[in-house]
Amino acid sequence: MRSKYSPWYRNKMESNKQWKEGSRISALIVDDDAMIRKIHKAMLERLFNMDAKTVNDGKEAVELYRCGANFDIIFMDKEMPIMDGHEATKELRGMGVKSLIVGITTRADGKDTEEFLGAGSNYCFEKPLDRTKVEQVLQDHPHFTT
Ligand SMILES: [Mg+2]
Repeated sequence: MRSKYSPWYRNKMESNKQWKEGSRISALIVDDDAMIRKIHKAMLERLFNMDAKTVNDGKEAVELYRCGANFDIIFMDKEMPIMDGHEATKELRGMGVKSLIVGITTRADGKDTEEFLGAGSNYCFEKPLDRTKVEQVLQDHPHFTT
């Protein structure tokens, strides 16, 4: 039977005896689309055992951080009402937020990527998020899983 986990992630989990509830990666999903929030949350929780929370726009994300919340990774949509992903990323970096920020966009034309990275995000991926994209982030940051 094929495991629902990728070989890389399975090895990581098997070899890591310290993997406990307390060391779960915390993620914040910022997206105005309820379906995307649901799909991304389910994927991050089921495939990567992350502790994932969701908010509806960039302003809510900024407010959470202003209230003292912190997450290992933020998955940030580009197009959102009230405050978009690019603005929110700039705002968070301006506040000194060190969390990884993964920009998510529907467009692959390069402009969104440029804006996201310019605002201080660490990555920019096309929607929808999938296992390969999340694995890339985790492989680049192995301290999250050890
Ligand atoms: Mg959107």
